[in-house]
Amino acid sequence: MDDENEAWNDLVGLPAEPPEMRDICNGCGRPEVVCWCKSLPIPPLKPKSRVIILQHPAEEKRCLRTAPMLMRGLSEGKCLIFKGKKFPQYKHTGLMEIISMPNTILLYPSKESVDLTTLPKVSNTILPYNLILIDGTWPQAKGIYNNAPSLHKITQVKLLHHPRSEYVIRTQPTDGCLSTLETAAEALSILEEINYRDELLRPLKALCDYQISHGAVIHHSTEFKLKTKTYPKKLGKRLNKFLKELDEL
Ligand SMILES: [Zn+2]
Repeated sequence: MDDENEAWNDLVGLPAEPPEMRDICNGCGRPEVVCWCKSLPIPPLKPKSRVIILQHPAEEKRCLRTAPMLMRGLSEGKCLIFKGKKFPQYKHTGLMEIISMPNTILLYPSKESVDLTTLPKVSNTILPYNLILIDGTWPQAKGIYNNAPSLHKITQVKLLHHPRSEYVIRTQPTDGCLSTLETAAEALSILEEINYRDELLRPLKALCDYQISHGAVIHHSTEFKLKTKTYPKKLGKRLNKFLKELDEL
């Protein structure tokens, strides 16, 4: 009788869904072999400033995305993610308040944007920043910006001199493009004159190293392919214009 009871208990204790064939990490949602959780900084970094990510819904579905690495590399409250195509919406609790704060800056390479390095550095007299980033492809980011008049009033900044992207697995639209994680790490390091890059980028490096050692091709950026004429498609007028504009920024 006891044996039977125990057997029933075992049965009740089984998960409703059979386990996945491949072990998936609970932390990053990736198969164990490509889990990047082990490379996260311990404890999470605690910059004085905050990063606020406005994320296009399509970005979340990409299989290689870096916002979660940033979110978990920073301590609680230092990275906020708001999802949508329009900002701010009613569901984006606290976002409007952040947008209207004087120490909020928007990383967006518009004609009005200023070089990030020219901003005063965080100190006893300079408040930490709220750094807003738009997470998505170029056309998505442009769409989000154009549809959000409240963002236009924020001081706009751009990163002019930064290292080449480490994120070689995912094709970057231009050589000047960095992933969300790289952008945030670079911007925080400049604004606070503290090196956050090495620790924040470690999960990304681990992931790229793994992919490369397992035969993934290193993608050159689209810009590189265009310049060396290896890009398969014929250049459209709009893309040409866009690349020219980028060069002039
Ligand atoms: Zn993991």
